Amino acid sequence: MRAGIADAVRLAGRDPGEITTVVVTKFHPASLIRELAALGVTDVGESRHQEAQGKAAELADLNLTWHFIGQIQGKKARQVRAYADVIHSLDRASLVGALEAVDADAPVRDCFIQVNLTDDPARGGALPGDVDTLAEQVLGTPGLCLLGLMAVAPREGEPRRAFAAVRDLSVRMQAVAPAATQLSIGMSQDYAAAVAEGATHLRIGTAITGIRPLHG
Ligand SMILES: *Cc1c(COP(=O)(O)O)cnc(C)c1O
Repeated sequence: MRAGIADAVRLAGRDPGEITTVVVTKFHPASLIRELAALGVTDVGESRHQEAQGKAAELADLNLTWHFIGQIQGKKARQVRAYADVIHSLDRASLVGALEAVDADAPVRDCFIQVNLTDDPARGGALPGDVDTLAEQVLGTPGLCLLGLMAVAPREGEPRRAFAAVRDLSVRMQAVAPAATQLSIGMSQDYAAAVAEGATHLRIGTAITGIRPLHG
């Protein structure tokens, strides 16, 4: 996998140092994350709050960077902020308020605005037309640092075209949030297209961990 990413980076004429590979470990046991850490993995991604919270507590000694990539319920937002160093799934105005730092010692959390590239609201993400307003809101919120945009390519169609659309949205958003230049795009099946379109964060699950255990 490492070689595949390195090839995609070289092909795109990019610097490997610009790209963070987040290993998505949802549904896998904490013991697997411990093994990955021993192999040098530093960034892990989880999509279900209870599971992520438990693993982050159990593995606190590893000093991993925890990325939260799943949909966030408003009433759980404070708890997610407690352990998630990077939040990839900020997708609505009410969530920005819920993720605000309430006291002065609360850590600043990096975040991405997730944009929905489909017509299906159940897939999560803000409408492309709402991104700029949301970005302005994040910039005005204590305790949040806006890194950029996150998206999942739709099941249908060319991933590269979808990622190019995210890149265009990012350029537009930079008119209101000039520092928010990063892109969390690309998964096991489409990472090469994502690297070609400027990904700074790849979220790779099955290509590294193998098939996920069954879940209910
Ligand atoms: C599960 C998941 C991934 C990883 O998917 P793979 O196809 O296993 O690489 C990436 N992003 C999100 C939002 C996910 O839920």
